[in-house]
Amino acid sequence: MTKKITIAIDGFSSTGKSTIAKLLANKYNYVYVDTGAMYRAITLFAKLNGYVTKDTFNKEALINDLTSISLSFHFNEKIGFSEMYLNNRNVEQQIRTLEVSQLVSKVAEISEVRKKLVLEQQFMGKDGGVVMDGRDIGTVVFPNADLKLFMTASADKRAIRRYKELIDRGDKVTFEDVLFNVEERDRIDSTREDSPLTKAKDAITFDNSDMGITEQFERICSLVDQRLSKI
Ligand code: C5P
Repeated sequence: MTKKITIAIDGFSSTGKSTIAKLLANKYNYVYVDTGAMYRAITLFAKLNGYVTKDTFNKEALINDLTSISLSFHFNEKIGFSEMYLNNRNVEQQIRTLEVSQLVSKVAEISEVRKKLVLEQQFMGKDGGVVMDGRDIGTVVFPNADLKLFMTASADKRAIRRYKELIDRGDKVTFEDVLFNVEERDRIDSTREDSPLTKAKDAITFDNSDMGITEQFERICSLVDQRLSKI
C-alpha cells in the first residue's frame, strides 16, 4: 500500500494556501479539503436566512439551525477540484463574493459552528492522504499532522492577489475594500477566543511575498518527500 501522510496548511487570508494545497493534492493523489469554504457556506446560509448582515447578527437563530445544514464537496472533473455544496446545492460561486468575505470571520468566531466543522473535517481526514487548509488545522483539527505549513505574505501583496481574483470573476469591488477585508479578517481570526489563527510550534513558515508559486511548490514537495521517506 502507498504511504500517505496528513498535510496541514494554515495562514493568513489570501496567502495562496489553496493554490498550493490543490497542486499537492494533485501531485500526490490526496484529497484536498478547503475548510474556509465550509465556514463560507455556513455564512452564506446565515446571510440567506437573514441571520447575519453587516450590522446585525442573530447568533441564537444560526446555532439553532446548525443541525439542518449539510455540507459536502463534490469533485468537478472539468475544473479538476471539488466544489462546495450547501444542502445539496452548488454554492461555489456564491461563497467567494466580497460580501461573504465581509461576514465570514464573525460567523467563524462561534464555538458551536467551529465544533460542527472541526468534527466533519476530522472525519474527512481520518484515513490520511489529505491536504487541508484553513486557520486551525495544525493546531486544532490535526495537531498530529505529519507536515504543517504556515503561510504568510505582506497585506498589500495578498490584497492584490484577492482583488485580481474578484475582478477576473467579474465582481465590482475596489482595491481599498479588499485590502480592508483582508486585514480585518486577519485581525478577527487571530484574536478570537476559540481556536485563533496561530502558528503551530512545529509548523514551517513560508513567507511568499516575493516567492513565486513554482519555487514554493518545489520546496514544499521536497518537505513532503522527506516526510514520506520517514514513515
Ligand atoms: O480560507 P478562506 O479565506 O476562504 O477562509 C474564510 C474565513 O473562514 C477565514 O477568514 C476565517 O474567518 C474562517 N476560517 C476559520 N477556520 C478555518 C478556515 C477558515 O476560522 N479552518
